[in-house]
Amino acid sequence: MLPYIIGGAALGAAGFAGYHSLAWRSQLYGETFIGTPGRDKRLALTYDDGPNDPHTLHLLDVLAKHEVKATFFLIGKFVQERPDIVQRVIAEGHVIGNHTTTHPRLPLLSAANVRAELEGCASALRDAGFTHEKIFRPPFGLRRPATLRVARELGYTPVMWTVTCWDWKKTTADRVAQHARRQITGGDVILMHDGGFKEMGADRAHTVIASDRIIGEYKQRGFEFVTVPGMMAGQSQNF
Ligand SMILES: [Zn+2]
Repeated sequence: MLPYIIGGAALGAAGFAGYHSLAWRSQLYGETFIGTPGRDKRLALTYDDGPNDPHTLHLLDVLAKHEVKATFFLIGKFVQERPDIVQRVIAEGHVIGNHTTTHPRLPLLSAANVRAELEGCASALRDAGFTHEKIFRPPFGLRRPATLRVARELGYTPVMWTVTCWDWKKTTADRVAQHARRQITGGDVILMHDGGFKEMGADRAHTVIASDRIIGEYKQRGFEFVTVPGMMAGQSQNF
């Protein structure tokens, strides 16, 4: 069964409280990749809103310690500011994707401006000498069919998630890890943030510590951590 059918069926039965979480999986706004939930023991860690000094660097230390590769959806304006951090992300074997240039609410923009936001991030990466995977995460998870159409025209696969850790606001490592444990079923794309879209330097220490715990716990339970393209390659869906 395709994940979007699971998402669609659950959406109808869910109350309002469940709507927001399931909406991340919903395919009503256009097709997105959300992993292979409930189907295997792979997990894809994804980090949005970087590069961010110093938390991206601390996170890279944690990932290296566990020998785990993750996927980073970068904001173009921060790539321009700190290409040195991006350099390390790539050098250590992680995957990078497009999270726009300035992190706007894309459904409010014209198709031309959505295109400019995606192309701006791609050029920031290209100008600094980096190649990136053609994967794209919409800021705030906000999208509509027209948004995703532009992304697909540019060759991008939109990537959402099945697990969110609510780590973009003031929280603790305990809470972030607990959110992950409650939602992980296997085959998940896990949403976390190593940066903050408003400014460089946003505190994400809780995310770094929680990542260390989650990786340790789930590795011990026989789970494997993969990148988003790695997860895509291992499934039969047409993405
Ligand atoms: Zn974001």
